[in-house]
Amino acid sequence: MITKATRLLISALLAPPLLAQQYDLVLTGGRAMDPESNLDAIRNIGITGNRIAAISTSPLLGREVIDAKGLIVAPGFIDLHSHGQTPENYRLKAYDGVTTALELEIGAAPIPAWYASREGKALINFGASAGYVPACMAAMHDTGTLLPRDQAVTRRPTDTESRQIFESVRAGLEQGGLGIGFGLEYVPKVAHKDVFDLFELAAKRGVPCFVHLRHQGLGEPGVVAGLQEVIANSAATGASLHVVHITSAGRGLTAIALKMIEGARSRGIDVSTEFYPYPAAMTSLESAVFDEGWQERMGVSYNDLIWTKTGERLTPETFARYRKVGGMTIIYGIPEPMLRLAMAAPYTIVASDGLIEEGRGHPRGAGTYARILGRYVRQEHALTLMDALRKMTLLPAQRLEKPIPAMSRKGRIRVGADADLVAFDAARVIDRATFTDPALPSEGFAYVVVQGQPVIRGGQLQTGRYPGRAVRGVSPAF
Ligand SMILES: [Zn+2]
Repeated sequence: MITKATRLLISALLAPPLLAQQYDLVLTGGRAMDPESNLDAIRNIGITGNRIAAISTSPLLGREVIDAKGLIVAPGFIDLHSHGQTPENYRLKAYDGVTTALELEIGAAPIPAWYASREGKALINFGASAGYVPACMAAMHDTGTLLPRDQAVTRRPTDTESRQIFESVRAGLEQGGLGIGFGLEYVPKVAHKDVFDLFELAAKRGVPCFVHLRHQGLGEPGVVAGLQEVIANSAATGASLHVVHITSAGRGLTAIALKMIEGARSRGIDVSTEFYPYPAAMTSLESAVFDEGWQERMGVSYNDLIWTKTGERLTPETFARYRKVGGMTIIYGIPEPMLRLAMAAPYTIVASDGLIEEGRGHPRGAGTYARILGRYVRQEHALTLMDALRKMTLLPAQRLEKPIPAMSRKGRIRVGADADLVAFDAARVIDRATFTDPALPSEGFAYVVVQGQPVIRGGQLQTGRYPGRAVRGVSPAF
């Protein structure tokens, strides 16, 4: 005999929809691609709070549901080289699929103030390394802003200044810096010993050194000498080394630069590198990069330089005039075959080196990621989609996850991972930023989710949302 209580129990058990779990946000029906597990299939993704809570072929219930049918759903992109750390840049990054932008090459000093000014106000996740260049500028009273222009360019730090610089970097690591950023070409007179000492510090702390080489390009000393200094430091101290923008560092010698990095890697040295998909670089005209011999080093002349404020090509006269004023300058001369070579290497990471200021700058600041996906994957088949995604998500996350375990939750579609996700139309995604109009946002990203919150929805930026969180180094006592 069935009692009333039993009947109630049975009917409750037969009513699954009321008992099913509800997620905060569900992306439904997208083609999920995860370079870690090689998942490439239609999945529904459930998000609770700021984490991925379910990846399923069954329908999921969500308080908010995004229809991702026809879209690729991938981990949000991680940009290891992002100088632009302002709301203007964060917006352009979001349109380009970037959910985490880190300033690792130049870095910051002091670290606490840098983080405090962005906390709770950032559209995407952010972070910085402890910066050697800013530490040099402060200790040596250089009058430059982002990059040195006088004291730190023309002379070597005194012994007292060297100690101050070391202490600034050390403090920066204790305060959450993600490694040590070295823009060595911008402080060309610093002693080799000082750089070695800081590699030793990085090794003790287990954090990577992010390096713009002291010598770049052709000529003598060029990129080979630049790499020899830091590969030797890495071998001798055990510090991890990340060499930034290998194609603008190597230019016509990128092939040998890659060969050196591959050789070091095959002998057990922890060296990685990155590239951006453009035929030109950009830096400050007043910096040491344009000291005597720049034409020979970079294999370019005045006509290969563009003054970003106006878009004009430079002449010997305007070069001299603008160098006194100071400002960002585009430098052509990265050969396309060298870029292809860097792109084809399985270990290279995509990083933008981006910086847009009031709409001016280099298009890499707005278009790097969509350009890889649209031009190099879809139009030219230079990379598979999964390989391209790996260079934008898993590889940069893995570069940092040993010292910063929180990074092992990024760059993956996995239950428990951070809900930083992109959903884009692979048939349409493309960069729009150009050298004449560098701040045009990329197209094709229908949804960009940061910490579980859509910041791009239906291709539109969501205003008044600041879900970006700080990525900080951990500080073991040493
Ligand atoms: Zn650089």
